[in-house]
Amino acid sequence: MERSQVVGIMGACALALGVFAPIGSPPIFESQTLFGNGAADGTIVLAAAAIAFFLSLRRKYRWLLLPGFAALGVVVWNFIAVLNAVSARESQIADDMAGNPFAGLGAVAAGAKELEWGWALLGIGIGLLIGASMLGRGDQESETTGNTKRCPFCGKEIVVEAIQCEHCGKILKG
Ligand SMILES: [Zn+2]
Repeated sequence: MERSQVVGIMGACALALGVFAPIGSPPIFESQTLFGNGAADGTIVLAAAAIAFFLSLRRKYRWLLLPGFAALGVVVWNFIAVLNAVSARESQIADDMAGNPFAGLGAVAAGAKELEWGWALLGIGIGLLIGASMLGRGDQESETTGNTKRCPFCGKEIVVEAIQCEHCGKILKG
């Protein structure tokens, strides 16, 4: 298997797992995963992962940017929403703890607790898909250059489809 295919399939799997991985906890999230978090966000990312998997199998690496960026958009959008919710909660906690010398510490602890490792998995998946798309460009180029044979008369490299050698001009059999 080609590097780009391996990387693409790994990216699709990481993304699909990331949809079901914990990304936070209530009350900031309706559920602990992107998939259960209302809206169609989890479904979009899961569909993007499925498309990326299929594209990798079919070796259409250049198209991996499409599901990659679709997933990136949804994930970034959700992440911003989470950060907003976390900072809103932090200021609420800070209000509750007004006068308490440990207020700052409480806010930091509350903020860090809301974020789970699912974000890392989603990020890795998206990164791998975009990486596979970049790698795929190189693999597809080497495939075109590998599409040659040696002329039996002069020994120089010519394209497989050639019926006449471009170097020595001899006619080659079918
Ligand atoms: Zn030749």
